[in-house]
Amino acid sequence: MPDVIVVGAGVSGLACARGVRQAGLEPLVLEADARPGGVVSSERVEGYLLESGPNTILPTPESMAMIAAAGVSDQMITAPPGAPRFVYAGGRLRRVPWVLSPSGTLRALAEPFIRRRREPGDESLAAFFERRFGREAHARLAAPFVTGIYAGDTRELGIQGVFPRLARMEADFGSVAAGMVRGRGKRERRRLASFRDGMGTLVRGLARGLDIRFDTAARTLAPGWRLEAGAETFGAAAVVLATPAPAAARLLRTVDSDLAGHLGAVCYAPIVVASLGVAADEFPKPLEGFGFLVPREAGLKVLGTLFNSALFPGRAPEGQALLTSFLGGRLSPEAVDEPDDRLWAAVRSDVECVLGLGAGAGRGIRLTRYRRAIPQYRVGHTVWRSRLRAGLAGMNGLFLTGNYLDGVSVPAAMEHGARTAEAVIQYIRRIS
Ligand SMILES: Cc1cc2nc3c(=O)[nH]c(=O)nc-3n(C[C@H](O)[C@H](O)[C@H](O)COP(=O)(O)OP(=O)(O)OC[C@H]3O[C@@H](n4cnc5c(N)ncnc54)[C@H](O)[C@@H]3O)c2cc1C
Repeated sequence: MPDVIVVGAGVSGLACARGVRQAGLEPLVLEADARPGGVVSSERVEGYLLESGPNTILPTPESMAMIAAAGVSDQMITAPPGAPRFVYAGGRLRRVPWVLSPSGTLRALAEPFIRRRREPGDESLAAFFERRFGREAHARLAAPFVTGIYAGDTRELGIQGVFPRLARMEADFGSVAAGMVRGRGKRERRRLASFRDGMGTLVRGLARGLDIRFDTAARTLAPGWRLEAGAETFGAAAVVLATPAPAAARLLRTVDSDLAGHLGAVCYAPIVVASLGVAADEFPKPLEGFGFLVPREAGLKVLGTLFNSALFPGRAPEGQALLTSFLGGRLSPEAVDEPDDRLWAAVRSDVECVLGLGAGAGRGIRLTRYRRAIPQYRVGHTVWRSRLRAGLAGMNGLFLTGNYLDGVSVPAAMEHGARTAEAVIQYIRRIS
């Protein structure tokens, strides 16, 4: 019998299982899919390296240590330093941060003079950014960037869950600018990274040496702990649910229906990922930078586009460029149900228009649809999370990890998995 069962082999579950194993315990990982990684998936198609999930990571020192321990840091590659990012505003691409009108810039620069919020509690991102930096900075900078990470709606997402540092800067120093000045020097410069053969390398490294049962979806959970999965029943002293929130809620239903209901309330943004190949000589000037984001006011269907082949080598065949566009999100959830030809037509026309390409320059390579791509940290997320933790505290030996708790990025999910492993190890030591 394993000491610990981890349900789900996404980066959260893999990081957790590795942490448990490092302490000399025996974890067994049950994974519904035929491969590890969850939404992380890299594949070579016609000479293009396609990422249907995350394309890049911004590693923290903690996640770097985990990448090194997984034996894949020598395969890591970093984006060119200072690779520009663009926002499509006023009918053209503008390099960040030069995106605002003169009056919008003045208003944003007045941030240190805006008095701090007196009311306690969470606030929507839209309210926070409009109040501190002005409407234009919210619409042209904050909202597109939030879309780039959460595919979310800034009127729905909460500042305390999404950007806790910014909320603390205002509370502690009176303004974000003052907080930045005080914090300067404390934060190391982090470089955007990936791996030579894509993000799948990270997953392979994390999964190496773990006992993982693939095609084994957990169906029921009973105290004790017993899990029915595939055609078998598994038992262990501790169980970690490392699935997305809806799957964890389904498993918890028979154990604690209140907690299951609480967990089931997490809402997700749908996303469509479209990989487009373009002959390099179609671009009016060489493709450079990270990519572009599109504010809602621009009226395009594409939320943003990454310039994969400009960022990392080996992403496209010789003479070709690879672009990855994102559609849908909380503000256009219907995109995920649209037929392929409509989506391709929208991606091609938006990308061709923004980048000044000739009609028909883009060739669709692959579309990936996620009905539930990114969990949304809505206003009140931190209170929701505390209630979840309080509910879990009474369940000896049951743990939750995943990107819906404490950060949606790959490094954040890995770190949460590792912290969960520490809690599991302490628990096992206490009972043995
Ligand atoms: C399109 C997209 C782009 C992204 N881009 C970036 C990016 O550029 N940079 C970045 O840092 N982050 C990015 N992210 C976010 C990041 O990739 C995810 O938050 C992270 O990978 C989630 O990992 P996870 O392990 O928590 O969840 P998941 O990857 O969802 O893994 C959960 C696993 O649980 C399994 N499972 C579910 N139910 C069961 C069951 N009943 N029994 C057994 N197994 C089960 C699933 O099959 C899956 O393997 C992106 C996400 C998406 C969707």
